[in-house]
Order: sequence, then C-alpha cells, then structure tokens
Amino acid sequence: MPKSQEIVLAEPRGFCAGVDRAIEIVERALTKFGRPIYVRHEIVHNTYVVNDLKAKGAIFIEELSDVPAGATLVFSAHGVSKAIQDEAKQRGFNIFDATCPLVTKVHVEVAKLHREGFEFIMIGHKGHPEVEGTMGQLDRGIHLVEDVEDVARVSPAQTAKLAVVTQTTLSVDDAAEILAAVKRRFPNVREPKQQDICYATQNRQDAVKVLAPNVDVMVVVGSLSSSNSNRLREVAQRLGTDAYMVDSPDDLKPEWFAGKSRVGLTAGASAPEILVTQVIERLRALGAVSVRSMPGVLETVHFPLPMGLGDKSMQAAG
Ligand code: SF4
Repeated sequence: MPKSQEIVLAEPRGFCAGVDRAIEIVERALTKFGRPIYVRHEIVHNTYVVNDLKAKGAIFIEELSDVPAGATLVFSAHGVSKAIQDEAKQRGFNIFDATCPLVTKVHVEVAKLHREGFEFIMIGHKGHPEVEGTMGQLDRGIHLVEDVEDVARVSPAQTAKLAVVTQTTLSVDDAAEILAAVKRRFPNVREPKQQDICYATQNRQDAVKVLAPNVDVMVVVGSLSSSNSNRLREVAQRLGTDAYMVDSPDDLKPEWFAGKSRVGLTAGASAPEILVTQVIERLRALGAVSVRSMPGVLETVHFPLPMGLGDKSMQAAG
C-alpha cells in the first residue's frame, strides 16, 4: 500500500430517511411494548442492523403463521402485499407499518390507477420483497419486467390504459433504458409524475458517479441482499473502477488496496455509519493515512413515525 494512501468518503452515503424511520419504529415498539416484537422480513437489508435489533428483542419472521396471537408486528421498510396486510389485520396483531413512505406512495398510485382501469408494467427485480409488496397490491394486471428483453415478452390484456411503476432502489441508468424500451413498445404508457426511484438511491448513485472516476478502488458498505448497495458497486464498476461490497470490516482484503493511492468509500441506504467508521479504522490499520469527504448533496428528508409510537420533531419533508 502506498505511504500516502487516502480515503475519500462519498456524500451522501448510508442511512436514508426511510431506513432511519423503520429502525426507530422497531426500537420504539420494543420500548413501549417490551420484547419480543415480531418483524416481517429483515426490517432493512443489513446484517448489522438486524443482529442489533435481534439482541434488543426483535424476532424476524417471513410467515405470519410464526407470529403468536396478540403479538406486536412490524412490517419491514420494503412494504407488504394486500394479502399480508389483510391476514395480519384479521389475526388481530398490534400492527406498525414501517413501509417507507416512498414505497407506500407507489402502492397508493397503483391502487388509484387500478380503480381507473389501468394495467401496470413494473420495472424491478423478481423476488425482491418491495416488488412482491407492490405487485401484491393487485390480484392481477401488474406485469414485472427485469430488463429490456422482458419488455418484448410482456403481454398486457389491453394497452389503452397502461402505466409504469418502478422499484425504488434500481440503477437509475438501467431503469431509464428499460423505460425507454417500454415507451417504444407502448407509446401511450403513463409514467409516474415523479419518478419512483427514490431520492436516496439517486443521490448515492450520483455521488459514486462523481467519486469513482477519481479513485483507484471503491468500497461499498452494504449487505449482499441490499438492492441499492449492489447498484452502487455496479455504478462504480461500470465506470471502470474496481469496486467491492463489504458487510463488515472483516470482509476487506489487503490485496484490493495494494499499490492504490486513493480509496473511495460509500455505504448503501441500509448500512449504518458505525460500519463505515470500522472500515476506516481497518483501512488505517492497513496503511491509509488520511480521510476526507467529497462535497455532496445535503439530505434533509425526514418521515414521521406512525400514530401510537410518538414522534419528536414531526416535520415530513421531501
Ligand atoms: Fe425509502 Fe429510498 Fe430509503 Fe428505500 S432507499 S427506505 S425507498 S428512502
């Protein structure tokens, strides 16, 4: 490792407003109702966060049949289908919905346009819980496309009333390419007024686009299951920069940094800053001598907590 190696931090990076809110919902539910609190699916896709909440008394489940009667249940930030919402209500759980308000916005749009007779093309990754939740807002009439090839294959029952929605954490560039293919095939397709890819995904990808060409290697802190973290690694790699994703500082390999003088460091929207700090410490132990932040967008978005869990500073922004 060169003697003068520096670490350059991406701005913004790490937690977004939806992740902050989701974690706070579980923590406040634990304080108010005591352990255990049941959480459907990982509250956010991060191993550290999930293990921390497990230690505090959260139990993560996938099936509602694993939740005992009378329990408090939190839906994860990714959102859930109507079927799961209905089943949870029917079983009488004390429910708190940690679905990110930007995902809920997509659900509301889907429900509204469905009432007006629209069918949907959803751009997203098959099997991701957000996609399952959004597609599960309807019984039928919502078709998933994962890439440009899928656009040629999709077969809506009618095309007069067709709308497009997207997963919030996609690659901005990939989504634009797929959307262009959708518009070529279905010129009348209705687009969302404001794009569904969220501000946090956009800002973190924009920061990597600025940073990656100016460093020798990029490290992305994030868990393998985290969609937006994977996209950050891809953005850097597409710009020709070696990029690695790490779930913890133990994943760092000294050979990634051999002969490199600048290391770019960012974190997905579900990765806590404590892991960034630990990665910096590890890189220092490997020989990095300085740390600086790149200039970047200041995020001020904040979402209110659900009723019943109190809120300190309730101003929803952005
Ligand atoms: Fe919400 Fe975007 Fe954060 Fe997902 S990444 S929780 S959509 S703000």
